[in-house]
Amino acid sequence: MTAKPVVIDGHIHWGEWAPERVGWPGATLDDIRDALRRSGIDGAVLTTTDRVDNEGLAAALEPDPDGFHFFPWIVPDEPDRTFAFLEEHAGHVAGLKIHPSLERLRVDDPGWRPFLEFAERRRLPVIVHCGRWQEMASWRYGLDVAERHPEAAIILGHLGGDLPTLQQECSREMQRRALPNAYLGTESIREYYSLRIALDRLGPERIVFGSDYPLGWPAAYLAVFEGANPSDEERRLVLGENFLRLIRRKRVG
Ligand SMILES: [Zn+2]
Repeated sequence: MTAKPVVIDGHIHWGEWAPERVGWPGATLDDIRDALRRSGIDGAVLTTTDRVDNEGLAAALEPDPDGFHFFPWIVPDEPDRTFAFLEEHAGHVAGLKIHPSLERLRVDDPGWRPFLEFAERRRLPVIVHCGRWQEMASWRYGLDVAERHPEAAIILGHLGGDLPTLQQECSREMQRRALPNAYLGTESIREYYSLRIALDRLGPERIVFGSDYPLGWPAAYLAVFEGANPSDEERRLVLGENFLRLIRRKRVG
């Protein structure tokens, strides 16, 4: 009998979405705590929504950050304001979230560079949304950025994109390029077979679990992970230890 591994959800959104995201549910901190408890998850990465209320999330987390890891949502066109925020909350910031599609800026655009360099200096992991919109949110740009910024762990979200072809091309290319700082997140994917392929190609050290709650139910993505028929070691690493290792690299100042 092996002990239950520590489970960290590597991708949760706090707050309400902008009105144009019709039908997308928001979540309060209480909603998030309840979803984690009912899904059997011990802790989580919290980022905001496209409303980018980093101040609000910082204030909500301050009284009891236990189990939560704060990844501010970065807006590239307000660097001074964003850096002031990052400095002020340096003690609480555990990583950065970059959403090329919603910010309408490819992750390899120079506009993101100061933030990626900041992540390198502080040894902060960066979650990069990857999606179907290939001109804007292809995993290819995420890998290019990982190569350019070797001191920052770059986590490619949604296993490289929410289509089996994107996911499997991405893990193949990651295997070929063998970048030591490139990771795959499992948030919101249903494709247990793409996950199995990625585990076999890259090893379990490169994959971090996430759900994308409240856009999906966390326990459903734990079930998808089980569909990949993981070993005990894969479970331990992917569900929590890899993420904890990445945030422990942080350097303040
Ligand atoms: Zn998300």
